[in-house]
Amino acid sequence: MPVYNESANLRALWSRLEPVMTGLGRACEAVFVDDGSADDSLEILRGFAADDPRVKVVELARNFGQHSALLAGFRNCSGDIVVTLDADLQNPPEEIPKLVAAIDAGNDVVGGWREERQDRTYRRLASRLHNRVTSAIVGVPMHDYGCMLRAYRRHIIDTVVECDEKAAFVPALANTFAKRVTEIPVEHAERAAGESKYNLFSLAHLSLNLITGFSMLPMRALSLTGIGIFLLDAIFAMLLMAHRLIYGAQQEGALWTLFAVLFFFIGLVFLALGLIGEYVGRIYIEVRRRPTYIVRAVHRGDGDEHATPRPPG
Ligand code: UDP
Ligand code: MG
Repeated sequence: MPVYNESANLRALWSRLEPVMTGLGRACEAVFVDDGSADDSLEILRGFAADDPRVKVVELARNFGQHSALLAGFRNCSGDIVVTLDADLQNPPEEIPKLVAAIDAGNDVVGGWREERQDRTYRRLASRLHNRVTSAIVGVPMHDYGCMLRAYRRHIIDTVVECDEKAAFVPALANTFAKRVTEIPVEHAERAAGESKYNLFSLAHLSLNLITGFSMLPMRALSLTGIGIFLLDAIFAMLLMAHRLIYGAQQEGALWTLFAVLFFFIGLVFLALGLIGEYVGRIYIEVRRRPTYIVRAVHRGDGDEHATPRPPG
């Protein structure tokens, strides 16, 4: 759970989460990541940890943002199944057993789907667009990429951590590594106390991160635009030539010719930008170092299974 200035919600959260954890009937831990809160969230969390050995509090040095906090949590948790949720009680902890059951049923990633979302209208509309775009570029259609009530299998978490991306959008990244992904409807509540930490600007920032993090389309659009301009310009030049042959030289002919020449160079500039973009894109893909494949196990006739060694770190 990423926590940023949630002191008004934490006690209620823990009082609801604790019985759910006990009710699961298996070993589990609660990892809170304090994302540089300025209120007394950290003190409250440390109080929980003092009272209950299942609580772990990761204190970040300053505010790094929700997704970075999630990654910090991933690095500091040890379960075979990892569940994420918001700390503002918008994601009811009582839904956790459903997610865990869906993982037990064989899924690698289980997303919560807030069918009845309790947020402002502009958030819901922005989110609908966001889910369409994300589904398209990740290639895994989901109704709700924004819901943080999600469950992941260990190997997915390990791979996400191993990627160590600086601007990761966790649900999308995780889906690119999963074989079986499912979505189950979950309840969604209004924020119990306090204000959302996101405004329209930070949401747009998140979406841009996502688009540039998963697709080369924006940059490829440059070369395509260049080629489009070339084609139009060729048609334009031919029309000009035909016009001249049929009607002879005209006074404003030179002006039109100049336009044709101008568009040729504009097309060239777009194409050049697109080509540079292609190279930058290749560098980007290389430095990002996402795994090209993940081996889960090697099977042999003698029944021996050899899981891949865990990534270091
Ligand atoms: N959060 C965080 N760091 C931030 C912003 C938010 O850890 O910089 C946490 C916040 O405490 C909450 C979760 O991320 O547990 C979701 O934030 P919020 O409720 O503000 O987002 P919304 O529900 O409006 O999308
Ligand atoms: Mg919230």
